[in-house]
Amino acid sequence: MQTFGYAAQSAGVPLAPFTFQRRALRANDVAMEILYCGVCHSDLHQARNDWGASRYPMVPGHEIVGRVTAVGPEVKQYKVGDSVAVGCMVDSCQVCDQCRKGEEQMCREHNTQTYNGLDRITREVTYGGYSKHLVVREEFVLRVPEGLELAKAAPLLCAGITTYSPLRTWNVGPGSRVGVIGLGGLGHMAVKLAVGMGAKVTVLSRSADKRADALALGADALLVSSDPQAMARAQSNFDLIIDTIPVRHDVSPYMPLLDIDCTLVIVGQVGPIDEQLTLPMLLGRRRLAGSPIGGIAQTQEMLDFCARKNILPDCEMIAMQDINQAFERMERADVRYRFVIDMASLGNGA
Ligand code: NAP
Ligand code: ZN
Repeated sequence: MQTFGYAAQSAGVPLAPFTFQRRALRANDVAMEILYCGVCHSDLHQARNDWGASRYPMVPGHEIVGRVTAVGPEVKQYKVGDSVAVGCMVDSCQVCDQCRKGEEQMCREHNTQTYNGLDRITREVTYGGYSKHLVVREEFVLRVPEGLELAKAAPLLCAGITTYSPLRTWNVGPGSRVGVIGLGGLGHMAVKLAVGMGAKVTVLSRSADKRADALALGADALLVSSDPQAMARAQSNFDLIIDTIPVRHDVSPYMPLLDIDCTLVIVGQVGPIDEQLTLPMLLGRRRLAGSPIGGIAQTQEMLDFCARKNILPDCEMIAMQDINQAFERMERADVRYRFVIDMASLGNGA
C-alpha cells in the first residue's frame, strides 16, 4: 500500500514530505490509519543521528494512535474501526525467556523498533508514525481504552510507559517520595503517574520557571537543581529519582538526595554521562540504574491505569508541516509538555 508522511533524508536536514510503501497485510497484521503521533525527544536524537545508528530516509514517530482499517485473517483481538495504539516496538522473537514473560523490550534477539529498525522477515527499514498509515503485527498493537481522549493519548505510548515502568519496578505507591529530574515530555508524565499512584512528588528543574506548572501537575514542590543550598537541604529526601535529562550531564549532585538503599534511574540520556562520584553511592548504598520502555502487557496496564485515573499528557497540537519548528522548540525545552501531530494535517497526499 502506498502511503505518505514526513522523513529526514539525512542527519541535519529538515524533515520533508515523503511517499513510501507499507507492506501488504500478513495473516497476523493490523492495518491502521494514524490519527495522532506524539513528538518524542528520541525522534529528534534519531533524525539528527545523535546515537550514531540512524538509517535514512527516516520516518520518525513512536507515540501512535489510530483506527483499524483492515486485519489479516488470523487477527483475533481487533476489528475494523477499533481505536488502537502503537509504541516504540513492533516485533520481537516471541520465544525467548524475556518475550515469554512479557518483557518484549528486553528480547534476547532485540525488539524491532517502530522506526529505524529492520523488519524481521524482509529486513527492510521500519518507518514510524509521522505518516498516514501503519501495518503492525497484532501482538504489538495496544487497545485505547474507552474514555481515554484519542487526541491526547499518543504520548502515553512512549513518555507514559517509559516513566510508568520504573515507577512499577521500584514499587512506587502511597507515601513514596519520588523526584523527577527535567520537566519535559517524560518528566511531566512521571509526575502525573507517580501522583496517580499516591506518591509525594518533587520536580527537579534547572530554574524556578516551571514551579507553577509542577504544582498544577500534582507535584508537592519544585527544587531548583542549580541552587546548591536548596539541593543540600534536600539530602536523603527521596526513595526514587527518575532522571529524564536528554543530554550528557553529571548525576553526582543528585545522588545524595536519595535515602539509604534508594535508586536514581536514568531514562533520558542514551550515551555517556559525566564522571561519577562514588562516595554518595558507597556511603548510602545508593544505586544508579537505567530503564527502557515497558513490555506490551505493562503498556496496556498503563493505558488502563490512565483511563481509570483520568491521566492524560498536556499536549500542544501541531500540523505535520510544523515538525521542524517543533523540533527546535523541543530542543530549547519550549514545550508544555508534548507536541502531538494531528495527522489530518497531511490531507490526502504528501
Ligand atoms: P523533553 O521533552 O525535551 O524534556 C527534557 C527535559 O530535560 C527538559 O524539559 C528540561 O527540563 C530538561 N533538559 C533539557 N535540556 C537539558 C540540559 N541541557 N541540561 C539539563 N536538563 C535539560 O524530552 P523527552 O521527550 O522527555 O525525552 C527525554 C530523554 O528521554 C531523551 O533523551 C529521550 O531520547 C529519552 N527517552 C528514553 C526512553 C527510554 O526508553 N529510556 C524513552 C523515551 C525517551 P527542565 O527545563 O525542567 O530542566
Ligand atoms: Zn520516545
